[in-house]
Amino acid sequence: MIKVEINYRRIQNQDRLTVIVNFDYDDYPTALLPPFVKHIKNKEDIILSTRFEYHECPAEFLTPFIEELYLKVAVQEELKRRGFSTITEMLPEYLKCLYGGNDNINDFNGNHTTSDYCHCGQRGHCPSEGFKGLCSFAKIDGIHISPVEIQLVQGLANDQIYKELANNRGRKFNTINTQLRKVREKFRILRSPALVKLFLSAGLIN
Ligand SMILES: [Zn+2]
Repeated sequence: MIKVEINYRRIQNQDRLTVIVNFDYDDYPTALLPPFVKHIKNKEDIILSTRFEYHECPAEFLTPFIEELYLKVAVQEELKRRGFSTITEMLPEYLKCLYGGNDNINDFNGNHTTSDYCHCGQRGHCPSEGFKGLCSFAKIDGIHISPVEIQLVQGLANDQIYKELANNRGRKFNTINTQLRKVREKFRILRSPALVKLFLSAGLIN
């Protein structure tokens, strides 16, 4: 269920209204704000609050994103590959990938300090993860992490040994060994437990 909450707030000492839009949905962006919308912090100033279902959302709030998507031909192709054939079908998926999940789990802005939702809500298992202009890779300290790398470290966290990881993934022991060594090198970490700890603290695995 996608809900869109729109607050109209009056800025003190100014006689114009600013529209504030919050998207509220299990797996949907809260960071989603059309360019013309401004944040106002003072809650005393709320004079009207309306909640819409996604399909009832006033078109003007979605129009900037539809226009953006129309310009991204490669992104449309990628979404077609995933079975979304029209712009209308693509839009919720596009926004979900681009603006993140409203899932109460911190998303990643490169230094894992944000509590805002600014990345894909399907992080780690999104079919488009890493697709330019649509769904960016997970990051820790600005370093990209691929879904495969997340899956491997999750395996370690589940006490799987390299041989099990290799068997489960239909890969050779040496391949898994190399992949995990590369991940450790990226983060200058010597041993697997420290790697698991880092991924756990970033919320990439559980
Ligand atoms: Zn995504």
